[in-house]
Parts: sequence; C-alpha cells; structure tokens
Amino acid sequence: MALSFTSSSAVHGSSLYSSFEQPKAALFGSSQPLDRLNLPSTAVKFSRRRCAVKPLNAEPKRKDSIVPSAATTVAPEVVEKVEVEDCEKLGKELENASPLEIMDKALERFGNDIAIAFSGAEDVALIEYARLTGRPFRVFSLDTGRLNPETYKFFDEVEQHYGIRIEYMFPDAVEVQALVRSKGLFSFYEDGHQECCRVRKVRPLRRALKGLRAWITGQRKDQSPGTRSEVPAVQVDPVFEGMDGGVGSLVKWNPVANVKGDDVWKFLRTMNVPVNSLHAKGYISIGCEPCTRPVLPGQHEREGRWWWEDSKAKECGLHKGNIKEETLNGSGNGAVHSNGSSTHADLFVTENVVNLSQPGIENLQRLENRREPWVVVLYAPWCQFCQAMEGSYVELAEKLAGSGVKVGKFRADGEEKAFAQQELQLGSFPTILFFPKHSSHPIKYPSEKRDVDSLLAFVSALR
Ligand code: SF4
Repeated sequence: MALSFTSSSAVHGSSLYSSFEQPKAALFGSSQPLDRLNLPSTAVKFSRRRCAVKPLNAEPKRKDSIVPSAATTVAPEVVEKVEVEDCEKLGKELENASPLEIMDKALERFGNDIAIAFSGAEDVALIEYARLTGRPFRVFSLDTGRLNPETYKFFDEVEQHYGIRIEYMFPDAVEVQALVRSKGLFSFYEDGHQECCRVRKVRPLRRALKGLRAWITGQRKDQSPGTRSEVPAVQVDPVFEGMDGGVGSLVKWNPVANVKGDDVWKFLRTMNVPVNSLHAKGYISIGCEPCTRPVLPGQHEREGRWWWEDSKAKECGLHKGNIKEETLNGSGNGAVHSNGSSTHADLFVTENVVNLSQPGIENLQRLENRREPWVVVLYAPWCQFCQAMEGSYVELAEKLAGSGVKVGKFRADGEEKAFAQQELQLGSFPTILFFPKHSSHPIKYPSEKRDVDSLLAFVSALR
C-alpha cells in the first residue's frame, strides 16, 4: 500500500507545540499507574478538554533535571473505553486507511494514555506521522543496555529534531545482574534470546504498558515471514495488560501494518526525517548490538536478527501474540512430518538431489573415506529462506550432476531437529554442509548468499 498523508494535518516544527506550555516529561511506566488525583489544580483545569492534553514529550530545557515529573501530566477527562468488538470493528474500518489516518485516530481516541514504542530504527516514521497529525503524543523506548552507540546517538538526534523527550524504560538492575552473573554476557548465543529479552525488554515493556491504555508500534506485515504476516491496524493486545488490568485492557495500534519497507523509506526520505546511521552500514532491522547484524542485498531484514535461531520464531517477546500457538509449541508448519502429515510441499524435489534419512546422514557423517564428496542442505519445507533458495540449490545439483560431487538434502525440523543441532551444526534453516572426501568432519557453509554461483564457489573450493 502506498503511503499517503493529508496536507491539512501537516503542522511543522515547533509550531506544533506553540499553544502548549513547556512541560516536563512525565514519569512513564512507573510501577504505579499515573495517579490523576494528585494532579495540580492547573492540570485538572486543563483536563476538562481533550485538546488541552499536554504533550509530555515537548522539549524541556535540555539542562533541566532529567528526572521526569508526573505532576505535569494532564490527561483527558474522558477516556474512551474500547471494547473488543469495538476494536475489531475499528480494525475493519481502518483496514485500508493510511498510516496518518490510523495514527490520528489512535491519538484522538487515547490522548495521554497512548504512547509510541520507538526502537531507534525506521519506526521513527511513527513519530513523523504523529507530528503530522498536529496532536500531542508520547514516545517511549526500551534501553536494554546493549544497544549500539549509533542508536543512542540517534535517540538524541530524534529528541532534538522533534523537540521531545523520549521516555526510556530500563531493565531491573537486580534481574540483569542475576542473569549476567549466572550465565555470562552472551548466554543468548547458547540457549536462545528469550531469557535475556525477557529481562531486558519484555519486563520493562510490561511495566511501561501498565501505565497506558494503548500503544503504537511499527510492526509491518512484511517484516517477518512467520510472525507478522497478519498484523492488523488495530487490535486488543493479545499479550500485555494496560493500566486497568486484565485481558483486553490494552489496545495495540499498528499504523504501518500494511506498508512495505520500501515505502517507509520513501516516506522518511521525502519528509527529511533523521535516520539511524546504522542503516547506511547495511542494517535494516535494528535491535541490540550483539543480536543485530547487517544484511546483504536481497536478504530478508529479519535475517539480521537472532540469525542463529529459526526464522519463524524471531520475536523478542514484545509482539509474542503474533506467534501462533503451533509455532510456539514446536509443532507448526510441517514439524509433524515424522507421522507423514505436512501442510507444506517438500523442497528440492529432483532426481539430482538425494533425499537422506537420519540413518543415511549418520552413515555419511561416520565415513572417513567417502567415494565422493557430498553437499547437503539441512532444511524445513515451511522455512521461507529454504523456499527462497530452492531454485539455486536445484540448479547447483544439475550443474554438479556427473561431476563426482553428490548433492543431498536432509529434512531437519520436527523430531530430527535436536539431532541436527547436536550432530550437524544446525543453527537456523537452511544450513548447508560439505562432507569432504577424506574427512568425516562436515564443513558448514558460512555465508547467507545462496545464489548458485556462491554455492558452486564454495563446493569448488573444498572438493
Ligand atoms: Fe538480550 Fe539480544 Fe534480546 Fe537484546 S536482543 S535483550 S541482547 S537477547
């Protein structure tokens, strides 16, 4: 969907806030929701009209105390309660709405009880859309303590550009201490990113959301093959609770759900919005420094995140509701193949690719003197990256036919996954192994460039 916005809403620069007093940032996501009874009398007076909501993020003097003050918080007197059905209806109404319309509706409905979640990447577009609505808005961010220096610099640039204060949320120091002391600084490479993300991201986010009734995210359908393909424009948050507590107490807005990554970039360029300098170094999706890397042209952006794990489970917990139960419990998308059922067609089906069973690949691994070298892909039919390389792998097999190098495949999800992880260096799908003629030790293809020439160069170098 193309991005669009209406010029009538476009209010530029500092004039956006000119009718407001210069407020201080409010305490965001304290463990106690904001206590409106403690508002000063001036605030109560302002709260009688929705349009008098102060922008909590309007720039305080930069030398002011960075300790935010809840006393400046002014909330609208009447906050519309959005019921589940209401939310679904709204979602349908906004199905084809522009990001600006969705943002405007979100800010109009929730006033001071909604905030934009800003990760320090291209979701800066959300801040720009919020600015364009001409309404006051709040922005928060999770400082995990592991972000790139470029991201911290970018936060500062954004604050200056928009004249706002980002409301940072930090992890609990005792929890981080316990994790790092018991497991070290890089445990996520060993046992997955969920535990660290829980401590550094999910719990701080939960605290933040307990002070809100709605939040705005930069999730897009095209971001993740397995987890974000059905993101609606607005939904009752399926995971987190808002300040009223209980399921359904928080609404999640996704104004750019239908927007393609390219269109977000066109928008950022057109509007001359500052961007994280990491993007110029090949980063697309940006998170913590140890868990984010640049991607090559043509690679999916999520390949730059938690690349040692399965592509289908690449959510840090912030948007866990996107992961369908079948994926979470490990039985999804063909992982049931051991009993013969799968909803995905098999891959690399050609006479030039030998289909190896577990005993077959175990034998191959044991042989010290093979008659010929082998190249074998460990794959899962539901994996988008395996699907994407099907053409080049089949072509590789054709080119190697009769050359003395055998080409094979081993389906390594489901019950075979643990074996493949322990014995065959399986990190994420697809993993490509070369079994040399005179050694039992397979060599793992180190690159994510999976075009036929790159694969052929790898095989030629080792055969
Ligand atoms: Fe920890 Fe990596 Fe998650 Fe950041 S992205 S919280 S470093 S596991």
